[in-house]
Amino acid sequence: MTAPAAPDAPAVVAPAFGTRFTRHMATATWHRATGWSPLSIEACAAQPMHPAAAVLHYGQSVFEGAKAFRAPSGAVHLFRADDHAARMRRSARRMAMPEVPRDQFVEALTELVRADAGELGDAPGAALYLRPFLIASDERLGAATPPDIFRFTVIASPTPPAELGRALRVRVCDRFVRAVAGGTGDVKTAANYAAAMLGQAEAREHGCDQALWLDAFGRRWVEELGAMNLFFVDGPRLITPPLGGTVLAGITRDTVLALAAGLGLSAVVEPVDVEDLLDRCANGQITESFATGTASGTVDRHPADRRPAPQAFQL
Ligand SMILES: *Cc1c(COP(=O)(O)O)cnc(C)c1O
Repeated sequence: MTAPAAPDAPAVVAPAFGTRFTRHMATATWHRATGWSPLSIEACAAQPMHPAAAVLHYGQSVFEGAKAFRAPSGAVHLFRADDHAARMRRSARRMAMPEVPRDQFVEALTELVRADAGELGDAPGAALYLRPFLIASDERLGAATPPDIFRFTVIASPTPPAELGRALRVRVCDRFVRAVAGGTGDVKTAANYAAAMLGQAEAREHGCDQALWLDAFGRRWVEELGAMNLFFVDGPRLITPPLGGTVLAGITRDTVLALAAGLGLSAVVEPVDVEDLLDRCANGQITESFATGTASGTVDRHPADRRPAPQAFQL
């Protein structure tokens, strides 16, 4: 039996990010003795996994987040696929995993998008969010020797056009740290997300959307949001913190830095002191702040709204 809809229920509820998947997935397996299997495009379905699969115990898992957009011409374009391929190779090296060759990575994305382009929709800015990931799938509990089997998979999720104008509330996390130089904060590995979950939960308990992470030693320097890089507009300067081995090198971050000059802003990569940042937000010197990431593509306030944004940060 179906309950009648509440009178104020919205007519259409957009599915939450990453909860709906296209019909196919791309997959390939690496064996230490034989290298990579050919890539195959299959129905997107559960992949059987032994309970001793190494990833479940020791966490070797790296991933990417890329997008395919429909261009005004109707063609579908992958955004900076080479850069995603290179970053995934870097992540794999750091986590002692086999690298997915550039051509195999790009082919997997291309073939999956070709198979499922019909699910992309026609709305301007609609995209397929692509999630390539690599896991240790060998069945073994011994951690002293490296696994012999790894599985590379790409799945896709249709995403609506980026939402503009919704303010993001962030809370500075001073209890936990996300990354230290020499650790894994500068690569896309699942462990970074697991380590940040509690800080994220704490931010939500305080009515915020995201935790803002500071450096591990002095809890003074602003790093990033944990899945998005940060930018601040101060007069003609567009400021973002340096990577420093603890901040993920976002491809959107790099793109925004490259586009700044065309918007009349000078891109400045410099350390941002959190107390100083709060002062500059409060006194109106910083007029905009936003965060960048492929998954969100969200601007935290409408670009036309140039009023001071002291409310953008909450301690
Ligand atoms: C993926 C990610 C980003 C954003 O990177 P993009 O390439 O712009 O999507 C930022 N920070 C972390 C920790 C990430 O994992």
